[in-house]
Amino acid sequence: MNEPNPTQGEASQPNKQYDEMPLHETLRRGVKEMGYTEPTPIQAKTIPQAVLGTDIIGTAQTGSGKTAAFLLPILERLLREPTGRIYALVLTPTRELALQAETFLKKLGRHTHLKGAAVYGGVGMEPQQRALRGGAEIIIATPGRLLDHMSRGYVDFRHLRILVLDEADRMLDMGFIPDVRDIVGRLPRNRQTMLFSATMPPEIVRLSREFLNNPRMIRMEEKTVAAAGVSHRAILVEANRKTSILSDLLRQEGMDSVLVFTKTKHRADRLSFQLQKMGVRAGVIHGDKSQSQRVRALEAFRNGSQRVLIATDIAARGIDVEGISHVINYDVPHEAATYVHRVGRTARAQKEGDAISLVSREEQDDFDRIEQFIGMAIARENKTDPNAAPQAPMGRFSQPRHRPGVRPPPRHRYQHKF
Ligand code: ADP
Ligand code: MG
Repeated sequence: MNEPNPTQGEASQPNKQYDEMPLHETLRRGVKEMGYTEPTPIQAKTIPQAVLGTDIIGTAQTGSGKTAAFLLPILERLLREPTGRIYALVLTPTRELALQAETFLKKLGRHTHLKGAAVYGGVGMEPQQRALRGGAEIIIATPGRLLDHMSRGYVDFRHLRILVLDEADRMLDMGFIPDVRDIVGRLPRNRQTMLFSATMPPEIVRLSREFLNNPRMIRMEEKTVAAAGVSHRAILVEANRKTSILSDLLRQEGMDSVLVFTKTKHRADRLSFQLQKMGVRAGVIHGDKSQSQRVRALEAFRNGSQRVLIATDIAARGIDVEGISHVINYDVPHEAATYVHRVGRTARAQKEGDAISLVSREEQDDFDRIEQFIGMAIARENKTDPNAAPQAPMGRFSQPRHRPGVRPPPRHRYQHKF
């Protein structure tokens, strides 16, 4: 292992390459075999600190590579430990995220003796019980299911050295904080804790004060990262014509792997039904689908046999698919941060992608706020029908978008296609 350099990880330093990172050769091999050539910015800043055992608060938007930023230091720190005990626990909000982190762990750690296991609800307890009884050194768990196991008395966390709270803001949104608190209260106090989050609402700041000890803050600029590499585009359309506009879009060239967001489960189901009638087949993933339905839909999307996947925000949280070509907002999200999360699904790790939003008149105010939030004007194409619905004029579309006194977003800061 390299000598730790106290200046590593400072904001002014250029990105380190993996070869310059304090990681064992077996881990560098794992990284290379995953096809990662250089660390993402959050990885470059986190890894050198985390391998020293420092507590860390990392904020960076979705898709910035946070998983490897904590898995690699975990593996590095445990390389010399005997098997059969739990040394590290990663808490994550959804089963998809748990499974995904487990997959990354298997790949990154394939040349080590360390084993990881994902523990989540909706499947049998027994295989997970075996993992928790000494079958794995690194546990990646959703809070509810882990508590189930803990209440049965066989989970031994006495050797735990590292705790990671992944996607802390999403755990907050999903109401998991009491469970998290319950779990953390039963872990050894003398441990390294790392907390990762795309955003830092006040509750998460408070939580980090409670759980972390003298943490190092590693913060990536979320707004600019959100815009980088993604070309954004909006289409103004009557609410009742969204499906037909979408079906036209989906037939265009280059629509190879398209993630479509709706605001409710009901709208997701309805959209897939309507698209099917128009001859477009699409998978659906949302909270009311069973585990096996979700896995099947995701797998079909991942392997390309289903090129369109319709999702709600919570269900999409766990989706990590390489090469999503487009994200389409069938519904504009009410929260600007949600927009950032959604478009973070495309152009992942600096690939180019397109984010297209279908904006109805009712959604214009939310869309204006999104532009303000990401600090970027998004080109709008008007596809409203001038002859339709005279009782509901679309006049606002042609008016100046920004009311007097409201500062318009800068129009020149970023490159974008439209
Ligand atoms: P986050 O947790 O920040 O949302 P992930 O850890 O899920 O991001 O990573 C997002 C995507 O980027 C994944 O597909 C992952 O394989 C890929 N990725 C991570 N690190 C690198 C890297 N150094 N080089 C290329 N791709 C990477
Ligand atoms: Mg993540």
